[in-house]
Amino acid sequence: MKLELAAHIVDLHRCGISNLSAGMSRKLAAALAVQSGKPSVDEVTVEDLLNYLPARYEDRSNFLSLDKLNAGDEAAVELFVRTTAGVRVGQFRDKKKPPLYLFEITAGDRERVQKPVTVKWFVSGKGANDIVNWYAKKFARGTRFVAYGLWELDRRGQLGLKVGKPEELEILPPIDDGLFLPTAVAEDTPEEEILDPALISVHTGRVPIYRKLGNFSTKKLREIFRAVFDKLGDIEDALPKELLERQGLLGLRQAYEEVHFPPDNAVMPDYEMHRSPAHRRLIFDEFFWLAFAMRLLKGKREHEPKGAVIEISEEGKKRLATLLPFELTAAQKKVVREIFADLKGDRPMNRLIQGDVGSGKTIVAFLAMMAAMENGYQTALMAPTEILAEQHFRNAQRIFADTGYRVELLTGGLKASERKRAREAISSGEANLVIGTHAVVQEGVEFDMLGLAVIDEQHRFGVLQRARLKELGTNPDVLVMTATPIPRSLAMTVYGDLDVSVIDELPPGRTPIKTVVCGEDQRAGVYRGIEREIALGRQAYVVYPLVKESEKLDLKAATAMHEDLSNRVFPHLKIGLLHGKMKSAEKDEVMAAFAAGEINVLVSTTVIEVGIDVANASLMVIEHAERFGLSQLHQLRGRVGRGAEQSFCVLLTGDKKTTVARERLGIMERSSDGFEIAEKDLELRGQGELLGTRQSGLQSFRVANIIRDLDILSAAREEVENYLGPKESSAETKLLKKAAERRNAFELGKIG
Ligand code: ADP
Ligand code: MG
Repeated sequence: MKLELAAHIVDLHRCGISNLSAGMSRKLAAALAVQSGKPSVDEVTVEDLLNYLPARYEDRSNFLSLDKLNAGDEAAVELFVRTTAGVRVGQFRDKKKPPLYLFEITAGDRERVQKPVTVKWFVSGKGANDIVNWYAKKFARGTRFVAYGLWELDRRGQLGLKVGKPEELEILPPIDDGLFLPTAVAEDTPEEEILDPALISVHTGRVPIYRKLGNFSTKKLREIFRAVFDKLGDIEDALPKELLERQGLLGLRQAYEEVHFPPDNAVMPDYEMHRSPAHRRLIFDEFFWLAFAMRLLKGKREHEPKGAVIEISEEGKKRLATLLPFELTAAQKKVVREIFADLKGDRPMNRLIQGDVGSGKTIVAFLAMMAAMENGYQTALMAPTEILAEQHFRNAQRIFADTGYRVELLTGGLKASERKRAREAISSGEANLVIGTHAVVQEGVEFDMLGLAVIDEQHRFGVLQRARLKELGTNPDVLVMTATPIPRSLAMTVYGDLDVSVIDELPPGRTPIKTVVCGEDQRAGVYRGIEREIALGRQAYVVYPLVKESEKLDLKAATAMHEDLSNRVFPHLKIGLLHGKMKSAEKDEVMAAFAAGEINVLVSTTVIEVGIDVANASLMVIEHAERFGLSQLHQLRGRVGRGAEQSFCVLLTGDKKTTVARERLGIMERSSDGFEIAEKDLELRGQGELLGTRQSGLQSFRVANIIRDLDILSAAREEVENYLGPKESSAETKLLKKAAERRNAFELGKIG
């Protein structure tokens, strides 16, 4: 099969792709390895290349002639350079600042009858002067080029186009028809900058626009893809023909080719929306294989023997009720009933509790854990951070204080001797309830009789860890809790093997949080707001984003803010600092002091994002709010508004003026519904935020969008049922299982 043959991208060269040298192929493969998360270049396949999908498309099938061009048109126009100019801009020609130039081309049509238009872009940084000179040569008088984009009137009333980068312009070979002389192309324009006439068709018509891949420009990529499709034979399609026919799906080869090069009859708006037949096929694939793997996993679970049998007598229920510090909401009660039914059933429980921040998942888990302990089993609760584990530990100690059960904490932050002691208590069975972080599932921890394992904030945990936890007992019951609002139909696919319970109600007496977006200019007012809340006896959070790429800088910003607030702004208040790089004993101390009200304002990185519960905190200020995903903001915001008093959330942003930022953050002002926020976030940002990365154990999709493509998802799930349902043994099913094994998506299915 061709695809296997060309398993090495380097083979593209051997495929006879003339414009790609062996060295370039290797570079391409290296860039693809990074892109697809493969550990080595050797594992990159042609499929990885094909899966590098266009970010968008441009319809250049008709160059608009200048006389038809109007302000507001988004169009490709063929132009001829008349003059160029590089003008230094910026009011203050500060010698120390890097120079900034505006490079402007004035260009017209071939016949020079139309009013000229301008095409311009900025050049900045060191050496900008040289770059400007180079552009002047590259776009010498007479050069023919194509400019695509949104044409607008400038202040002089002239039609113009602003481009981000001049690479977006494509220089065409000169036409020597004498109409526009000289038909010069700058002598030192590198040969490869000029379109090979044979390739013009590749760059005209409906063209794909790619994000830059390594050093490969969209133009280069387009040529590579064209060459690949010209050489590539058929691609083996793992989906059975009958399925394709039933679902009206394209073959895989055709789908790939059309997604890169829309055919002549393509409906371009569908392409833009990723709803073309080609996209549909690729989306179907993504959903199908995931659902397939998950269905297999669930099938396996159905035959699992039950490890722990946990039953609660009426008397036991009464004992449980005495643990409750408050009356459960109707939603909590319903979920507790669902869990208890699972616990006494003869299959191991695999249940997901989904509930918005603050809906009260913890107490539900504690009740289930109590039930397990009443039946003589040990039980464990895993949290994604030490801070959260410690908070759960404090809560558990309080709630189970009078029960006689022993609660044990096990985190990586413990001293070696403490860890040893904890581990011994766990393996001997003296510890009834274990609360911890990943340390719980690490080697060397053995339970005597683990009956129920609970995982808090599942989206932080991999499927792998969940599987590992199950191995710690003889098929313990598993309860997973998440605030991530995943549509029910999707949850069934992503969590496949899990049954889902929803807590769709907040405890009574909560006053909705007031959220406001503020610009830098309102900072002083924000500080007055903090002062006011503290004067009322409440507490505040100031949160800083911490992103991987600039971790050190962000940490510095948080630390500097802490200093500024304690020394200059609020010298009379107690300001705490909390971040992930602190030792766990320190973190513990700070968190405990904040919980006890000894700290007024807690400056923190996003380590407080999940689960932290300090009811007296009534104000949260989030710095650089624009850097967060909305779902994450919602999680953060959920740290306040836990008491009956009015709570506030201030989203500070330097970016308040741009419409996208305002639209995004404005959603936070209007909505307090995690589900709605997630949907809006999806629309505006894609789903990365919602589902987390691959690492989190959830598949991230290449093309599929779980909100937009729900219909395709249900079609895929239906098909999976066709093959893995009752008539499982057909020849097609066997082939599908084989194909699934070869796929990465199937990693998920192997676990458990
Ligand atoms: P989450 O679902 O976000 O994990 P928690 O379990 O931390 O929420 O609960 C949030 C807060 O609400 C806690 O302080 C908890 O004690 C409180 N709470 C939970 N259930 C109820 C209830 N039924 N009535 C009153 N308060 C409740
Ligand atoms: Mg929680």
